[in-house]
Amino acid sequence: MSVIDTPALCDLAIIGGGAAGVLAAIGVLRGASQPLRLLVIEPNLPLARGVAYATTREEHVLNVPVAKMSGFPEQPEDFLDYLCDAQVFPALTREQIAPMFVSRGLYATYLRQRLQQAVDASPAQLEIVAARVQALEPDADGVLLVLDSGRPLRAGRVIIAVGNALRPLPARGASSLAADKRVEAWDYEALAGIASTADVAIIGSGLSMADTVASLRATGHRGKIHVLSRHALLPLPHAKGAAADYDPEPLLAMNLRQRLHALRRHAAEAAARDIPWQSVMERIRPLGQQLWQTLSEDDQRRFLRHVVRYWDVHRHRIATHLYAQLIELQQQGRLQLHRGRLETAVAEGACVCLYAQDRKRRPLQLEVQCVVNATGVEMRAQAMRNPLLQQLLGSGVGRAGPHGIGLDTAADGSLVDADGVAEPRIQVLGSLRIGRLWESLAIPELRGQAAAAAKQALR
Ligand SMILES: Cc1cc2nc3c(=O)[nH]c(=O)nc-3n(C[C@H](O)[C@H](O)[C@H](O)COP(=O)(O)OP(=O)(O)OC[C@H]3O[C@@H](n4cnc5c(N)ncnc54)[C@H](O)[C@@H]3O)c2cc1C
Repeated sequence: MSVIDTPALCDLAIIGGGAAGVLAAIGVLRGASQPLRLLVIEPNLPLARGVAYATTREEHVLNVPVAKMSGFPEQPEDFLDYLCDAQVFPALTREQIAPMFVSRGLYATYLRQRLQQAVDASPAQLEIVAARVQALEPDADGVLLVLDSGRPLRAGRVIIAVGNALRPLPARGASSLAADKRVEAWDYEALAGIASTADVAIIGSGLSMADTVASLRATGHRGKIHVLSRHALLPLPHAKGAAADYDPEPLLAMNLRQRLHALRRHAAEAAARDIPWQSVMERIRPLGQQLWQTLSEDDQRRFLRHVVRYWDVHRHRIATHLYAQLIELQQQGRLQLHRGRLETAVAEGACVCLYAQDRKRRPLQLEVQCVVNATGVEMRAQAMRNPLLQQLLGSGVGRAGPHGIGLDTAADGSLVDADGVAEPRIQVLGSLRIGRLWESLAIPELRGQAAAAAKQALR
């Protein structure tokens, strides 16, 4: 593997070297039977970190157990194999490691190791370009890419794997706050640098909030923690328990209201047999995409408007020790959960004053030394602050997905243009396919998409 200056021609360019881009690269390298030139274009090196796995903090753990985090559909225990072979936890047995929620940084190391192995064994050549793609345009000879260096590059095919975009802090005045007063939850170094005595307001109450609290605790933070979100729902924990054995297929024929009733009923029946509701959710996990695609457009809209917050806390769960930490801090009065909508953020001396409204439109005011943006992943294509996506939408090479979320894609992952025509030479991976698939964020979906895109590219 070498990092190179911009070359002029390649067979395949993968835009984005996070987990999805790296998995696609491994698929191509493993599947290639003859020499070909493959580029991964990624501004933030080393590869495989992206947003999720860039953290080097021990306390930032995967929200899925080791046994379910393989990068490869055909080797379901590959991450577990890696941790055992590399003796990352020499004192533990394979059985003990399988259910663990390990530090996310380990996942990037795992992917890079598998990438190196694939490079060593492949007739294909991988080159890494440390750059950001600003624009792309398909034409008769392939796809023309413009990098931030200004130099053009031509690829036979392209895979777009630019991943997650952070939502901006939803408050007037937020952008003029000084850097030490406004921290992004995905800026792991800045998080670790928050003064231990600072009172902190975390905006958003999802997984990035849990990460932030874990970081504050690990760095000995003693100040007050306010968590402000529109629904004030904390993420819920994983639970050990027997598998739920109901048949989830009939859900596919139901409308949204019927599905919610049915799931509540299954949870109540499970509880009566000492089976946790988490097992009921696990049972529908493999059907995630079908459940979305079989909802009517109106029901999808209703889901996005009324149900998604409740879905998120039940579906995207956290390790039990992180949940226990949140509850303990709440009980000690050190973490206060507020339900409200943030409106304005104003710096006043050493403090930041946050002005919000609660559900009944009553004013809610918080005075802290630091505000953390943990509002999570931006789903609306138009709002994503990525010049490449803005160019795709502006030029009509792509269009927003259903309900304006993500990019529109065909069933095989090809980008769909403004006229509704799919471009098979441009494949899209990951969270950008959320409008069509809904379940398209986590490794179990990404590994399948990456393997399919690699096969398509080699065809
Ligand atoms: C905090 C957090 C924790 C998570 N934890 C888990 C977990 O435990 N288990 C799980 O299964 N999933 C988890 N996820 C879901 C996660 O999104 C996926 O697992 C995975 O990391 C997504 O990878 P990706 O490559 O699609 O996107 P990203 O990780 O976002 O990577 C995209 C890459 O593209 C690059 N890029 C962006 N724009 C351009 C451009 N124009 N040109 C070139 N490069 C560009 C970026 O620099 C980035 O490196 C988590 C997500 C987050 C945000």
